[in-house]
Amino acid sequence: MACFRRDDEMLTEARMKMSINTRVFSYFNVTPDSPEWLDWKWQFKHRITDADTLSRLVALDSGEISGIRQSLDNFKMALTPYFASIMDPGDACCPIRMQSVPSAYEMGVLPWEAKDPLDEEHDSPVENIIHRYPDRAVFLVARQCAMYCRHCVRKAHMGEEGFALSSDDMAKAIGYIANTPQIRDVLVSGGDPLMLDDAHLESVIAGLRAIEHVEIIRIGTRAPSALPMRITPALLAMLKKYHPIWINTQFNHPAELTREALQACADIVDAGIPLGNQSVLLKGVNDDTETMKALLLGLVKARVRPYYLYQCDLCEGAGHFRTKVEAGIEIIRQLTGAISGFAIPKLVIDVPGGGGKVPIGPDYIESIDDEKIVLRNYQGKQYSYHQP
Ligand SMILES: *Cc1c(COP(=O)(O)O)cnc(C)c1O
Ligand code: SF4
Repeated sequence: MACFRRDDEMLTEARMKMSINTRVFSYFNVTPDSPEWLDWKWQFKHRITDADTLSRLVALDSGEISGIRQSLDNFKMALTPYFASIMDPGDACCPIRMQSVPSAYEMGVLPWEAKDPLDEEHDSPVENIIHRYPDRAVFLVARQCAMYCRHCVRKAHMGEEGFALSSDDMAKAIGYIANTPQIRDVLVSGGDPLMLDDAHLESVIAGLRAIEHVEIIRIGTRAPSALPMRITPALLAMLKKYHPIWINTQFNHPAELTREALQACADIVDAGIPLGNQSVLLKGVNDDTETMKALLLGLVKARVRPYYLYQCDLCEGAGHFRTKVEAGIEIIRQLTGAISGFAIPKLVIDVPGGGGKVPIGPDYIESIDDEKIVLRNYQGKQYSYHQP
């Protein structure tokens, strides 16, 4: 059965449950301690990319299999054996599965969806650079990911051939940043930059660090949740040479906070790298307060700072994940005051047409005039504050 939304309580219970899908280990003939399993290159090479293999790891009915085959005509599928190992093999609504396994819903492209909903092409002065905000730019260094998230904004471009940038493309992008002194913060993104090997990644980072006006280098990667084995001592030793480095990752559901993922986060933070998390609000995955709270509290316990919570972008074939905007606002309203302030991410819509991220959230202002402002606190009680 494909995943249709079920009764909310049942759903929450199913979502909270963490499972180990042992079929994955027997299929690949490994154990959780095998050297192959712990080797990120092995995991990457053995990514699951077709319905036949997947159907041997989780129970798929014929409707799901045909859904996967149909959507593969438009979008690639790939997920690491590790990610498959944390799926519930018998539950089509497993949050891990919903994020990584295509469905027939992806065929339903809506009129307001686009291949490039954020109009990134328009803000691209040279290939692989997106320069939208005055002081920071995005540098796309890879087209591959450990897994292709079904809700990805760059979904239409994911998995394109060519594992790394050519040295010519790289020189042009670095040249643009070097010649644009207002850029003080570079977001190394993709795809997933950590799918490059250490030497390749180091050439990118070293190139950026050599530019005097580049103060901050940030890396956007889903490795901690999709391929935690990628966070090796050698990688961290390399990155440490180029501080200040920041990393933002993506965890969307508390079931992703496994022992391996928590270790990867701890190792990153122990290397002196501030680690943030950007989640996407996904219907049926994390669009209820209890799941979101468990995720956020789990992240801060792992020393990961929740940074953004995105309203799902208007990318093609992701309509089944989109929540009403009010749903996210309500979750933030319920969490504000209830849990630590630093556990609450900023809810944003990355607006279509290239306007960037716009914060949205609950409104606490009851009224405001020259004399006073009347505010509602998190419990709904009113308080006034006198104007100067
Ligand atoms: C998100 C984003 C950034 C970074 O924005 P911050 O709010 O600083 O995290 C920069 N450029 C582009 C194009 C972006 O989409
Ligand atoms: S890891 Fe990021 S870039 Fe890659 S598919 Fe997922 S959301 Fe897209």
